[in-house]
Amino acid sequence: MKAAVARTLGEPLVIEQRPDPQPGPGQIRVRLEASGLCHTDIHAAHGDWPVKPTPPFVPGHEGVGIVEALGYGVTHLSVGQRVAVPWLGWACGRCEHCLSGWETLCEKQRNTGYSMDGGYAEMMLAYADFAQPVPERLDPREAAPLTCAGVTTYKALKVAGVGPSDLVAISGVGGLGHLAVQYAKIAGATVAAIDVTDEKLALAAELGADILIDARTEDPAEVLQRHGGAHAAIALAVDEESFAIAYAGLRRGGKLIMVALPAEGTIQVPVFSTVLSGTSVIGSIVGTRQDLAEVFQLHAAGRTRVIYETRPLDSVNTCIDEVMNGQVKARIVFEM
Ligand code: NAD
Ligand code: ZN
Ligand code: ZN
Repeated sequence: MKAAVARTLGEPLVIEQRPDPQPGPGQIRVRLEASGLCHTDIHAAHGDWPVKPTPPFVPGHEGVGIVEALGYGVTHLSVGQRVAVPWLGWACGRCEHCLSGWETLCEKQRNTGYSMDGGYAEMMLAYADFAQPVPERLDPREAAPLTCAGVTTYKALKVAGVGPSDLVAISGVGGLGHLAVQYAKIAGATVAAIDVTDEKLALAAELGADILIDARTEDPAEVLQRHGGAHAAIALAVDEESFAIAYAGLRRGGKLIMVALPAEGTIQVPVFSTVLSGTSVIGSIVGTRQDLAEVFQLHAAGRTRVIYETRPLDSVNTCIDEVMNGQVKARIVFEM
């Protein structure tokens, strides 16, 4: 099978022929139809984060395809069924986090396209218990971005506890942000979208954003404060400074939800105003299997739109450059 492989961190991916993977106990083999390019895959291939993946590995955690082979003991999935394989590739199911509905915090978790080979390939293995059945009506090319960009922003808005009278700032209208705008609208909030390109701001408007903030020409914090301050700001921009700016745009009692993971990102939080304003700064990592099931249901019900453009896997390195340069409308999906 063909796969795009990270052989050396920081170097372009290499298209390779590899043996077809054989599912072990509890695993399935998926023949991929569509696979999204999340900015996390770029961080992975570049080795941007303190915990680095070990090359060679296949990136990709928005893979959607058809179950082709079942490993020993897999009884709840069948050959021919469509599944999605998200970032949470496996969790222990026994620790305090797994048992309390926070499997995404499991310390033993394995991550697709990071510590396990991912979806930039014609085939991949997945643990059956963590492969998400895709509802019949969903187009695999739309299901792919929902598998990370969708579930992550859906969860971030849940964590923020956003309600109908809230002002929510979405900082960064990329792959994640274009869905975040929609989930915030579904929650009934007034949405302020912040980005640094005209195309992304136009897309945010098309998807229902009420206030558009161009961070190149305006101070987002000031604009948000003119509207009373945001109840929640969801930080999705791969830009360290944008976190502090989003924080400064909060009203008293506001919540900064940190989602983007810029390399070596840090934020200085002023103690005095955080205490007196009762501000929360919260990290949010992907979402659970149940969150993803809800994301798929919402999409099947026609409540969300996935904006994507399809590309062949062979063009993976050009696609990565396009994402880095902010030239992609929302999400690139590799069609296998
Ligand atoms: P993307 O490249 O598609 O989108 C980033 C967006 O931020 C772009 O629209 C870009 O124009 C915009 N931007 C850049 N600088 C900005 C600024 N100063 N102010 C406002 N907007 C700005 O990336 P993506 O795939 O949406 O991923 C975003 C980040 O989220 C990445 O760091 C990724 O690793 C991370 N991520 C985190 C999780 C999680 O669970 N926490 C899950 C998936 C992705
Ligand atoms: Zn666990
Ligand atoms: Zn992702």
